[in-house]
Amino acid sequence: MNAPVSNSIAAMIPELTEWRRDLHRHPELGYDVPRTARIVAERLRGFGFDDVIEGVGGTGVVGLLHGGSGPAAGPEKRVLFRADMDALPIHEATGAAHASGVAGRMHACGHDGHTTMLLGAARHLAETRAFDGTLVFCFQPAEEGEAGAQAMIDDGMLARFPVKGAYAVHNWPGMPVGAFGVVRGPAMAATGKFLVTVEGVGGHAAFPHMARDPVVASAAIVSAAQTIVSRVVDPLDPAVVSITSIHGGDAFNVIPDKVEMKCNYRCFSDAVGETIETEFRRICADTAAAFGVRVRVDAGFGKPYPPTVNHPAETETALDAMRAVAGVHNVRDDLKPVMGAEDFAFVLRQVPGAYVFVGNGDSAMLHNPKYDFSDAALPYGVAYWVELARRVLPA
Ligand SMILES: [Zn+2]
Ligand SMILES: [Zn+2]
Repeated sequence: MNAPVSNSIAAMIPELTEWRRDLHRHPELGYDVPRTARIVAERLRGFGFDDVIEGVGGTGVVGLLHGGSGPAAGPEKRVLFRADMDALPIHEATGAAHASGVAGRMHACGHDGHTTMLLGAARHLAETRAFDGTLVFCFQPAEEGEAGAQAMIDDGMLARFPVKGAYAVHNWPGMPVGAFGVVRGPAMAATGKFLVTVEGVGGHAAFPHMARDPVVASAAIVSAAQTIVSRVVDPLDPAVVSITSIHGGDAFNVIPDKVEMKCNYRCFSDAVGETIETEFRRICADTAAAFGVRVRVDAGFGKPYPPTVNHPAETETALDAMRAVAGVHNVRDDLKPVMGAEDFAFVLRQVPGAYVFVGNGDSAMLHNPKYDFSDAALPYGVAYWVELARRVLPA
């Protein structure tokens, strides 16, 4: 079995489980997380936090906890810990007693667990205060595709509370409970979206010569887009370009006048992202010209996420904390990057830090209707945060 967590953290398990299941029963989406944010703010105040600021970046909550030199400490003695609060528009199929009480909405990414782990650490650290400086606890909305972290930054989170480092944890299905892992360097992908509208001239299916067919032009765009990764991007740079939706027409005998497509891309650097965007736009424009139709490409569809890149020194600090909690044999420092995207990327652009994984055991994958956060992972997450606090702000 894994290294035991401290008695005081183990004693919190029943309560943490209750908190987590309550959040799970009441999932909220995007920026619309009033109940979750209110609970977080109330709990932080109840723990005796020195300051709790609500409504940061819409519905984000920032809690300040001072230890030792406390409020007088400069940014070199301030560190940010972050959890995400939002759920997903998925209909839960776990059949659990604590399953979502809202149809078509569930915590399928474990953000209920992330929020609970950070709340547990907040309580423990507020009681012990065995660190020197200020811990900035960040509970963000809208991690799932709506850039809630960037909204909190735009609302002055990092300007008002400058920090020397920032850390976040995500659970990982398939990794045993009690185990941890990290990807060195680029960990999660950058991602962007395009909405493509191809406009031609509709007509009778029997008289194509009197129409300008947007379906054929769209098919050519889909095929040509496959060459961005295979022929344009360096083969040693991982990238994905997927056309994920095509809509046009609805009859057997009518050529439609319009086709709409959705495209999603992933990569691990800004340079590759720019190449993909430039090339995709060129393919759309030039293919449309070749087929005599018009095309429009909208990219403003939710903010593109930059790659999530772990910083070397902070990754080592996180690894040391994970090893202290779980034992060296339960910590992987060689995980492969993941093509999923992560909002914490916006924070890691401004502040050095590390984004790590805590094992969720043998659960369904993230974003699956049968997924559930493993309550057995809660004490490990809490213990990691507490150990990390001790190491990043030594008393
Ligand atoms: Zn997710
Ligand atoms: Zn997530």
